[in-house]
Amino acid sequence: MNRVFNFSAGPSMLPVPVLEKAAAEMVCYGESGMSVMEMSHRSPDYEAIIQKAEADLRKLMNIPDNYKVLFMQGGASTQFACVPLNLIGRTGKADYIVSGQFSGKAFKEAQKLGYDVKCVATTKDDNFDHVPYVTRDMIRPDASYVHMCFNNTIYGTKFGYIPDTGDVPLVADMSSCILSEPVDVSKFGVIYAGAQKNMAPAGVTVVIVREDLLAYADPKMPTMLEWKTMAENDSMYNTPPCYTIYMLGLVVEWLLSIGGLEKMQELNRRKADLLYDYLDHQDYYLAPVKAGSRSMMNVTFVTGDPDLDKKFASEAAKAGMKNLKGHRSVGGMRASIYNAMPYEGVETLVAFMKKFAAENPKA
Ligand SMILES: *Cc1c(COP(=O)(O)O)cnc(C)c1O
Repeated sequence: MNRVFNFSAGPSMLPVPVLEKAAAEMVCYGESGMSVMEMSHRSPDYEAIIQKAEADLRKLMNIPDNYKVLFMQGGASTQFACVPLNLIGRTGKADYIVSGQFSGKAFKEAQKLGYDVKCVATTKDDNFDHVPYVTRDMIRPDASYVHMCFNNTIYGTKFGYIPDTGDVPLVADMSSCILSEPVDVSKFGVIYAGAQKNMAPAGVTVVIVREDLLAYADPKMPTMLEWKTMAENDSMYNTPPCYTIYMLGLVVEWLLSIGGLEKMQELNRRKADLLYDYLDHQDYYLAPVKAGSRSMMNVTFVTGDPDLDKKFASEAAKAGMKNLKGHRSVGGMRASIYNAMPYEGVETLVAFMKKFAAENPKA
């Protein structure tokens, strides 16, 4: 069976050279005589793997020395609780930007914990078809942090700018855009991301946190959710998700080998431009996201007819393009074109879109 073009929003495609390397090392890793899955996480072989994964990620993202890199479990969703639990102690209150479903969940989680949290900007009334423009005066100067989601996976929107929050640390969920382009880490207090969109299989969550922000956790909080515990134990307080971290290391190594995040951004730009240029020069499909907020990773579009949308996704799947159905909460189509999606995948999709439009005239 041939590999398909998998447009899934996550878990999603991994680079073929990474899968091949993992396959070659699956049964026997190096001279260890065992699979990475079977190793003690305290063994020298594994320590080398996790240390290299972190060092390579620091190099790739140009992470400053005063930031810790943590490998945690529980997905990005667990960080929705970790963020307030670790940071609210700064001032006792926090501000949220709600630009889609995940940032809404993060906001609700902090509310559920009973903290003084405020939604300072949202585009909910516009169906999240763009991201809000946030300025410093909208933020409470004594907020512990401002939380945002940089790329809204479900709606296909992305912040085209980094909000200026003054001295208030900015915390960003970057699950669906991390490693897609260079990012100035120093502009953020915390960046976190579940791995299964652009970094690795599911199972590990990367948290990049400025060291001075490790001091505010409630002493009663669960040990496993505390960033400081993870930082002090090099993410090995307990057994980490060993194999997933190994896979993340291979993905990062692959990105460095192709020329780093500048190169990746150029490749991603080409893919996204091809699809958006087509969408902008036809009138069969509608792309709901406003100019200036378009995601380079998740591209959403509809035909305007739910039956045709359904037919589109099922015929595309038969033609080797899987998982183009939009999120269950919004419908339509969504093409997730993460790092590992080849240009050829987007070319094939655009050709299919033209053919489908010609063969399925609207009433
Ligand atoms: C997928 C996703 C999540 C949820 O991630 P889990 O690892 O499944 O908890 C959160 N935020 C964003 C932006 C996502 O894309």
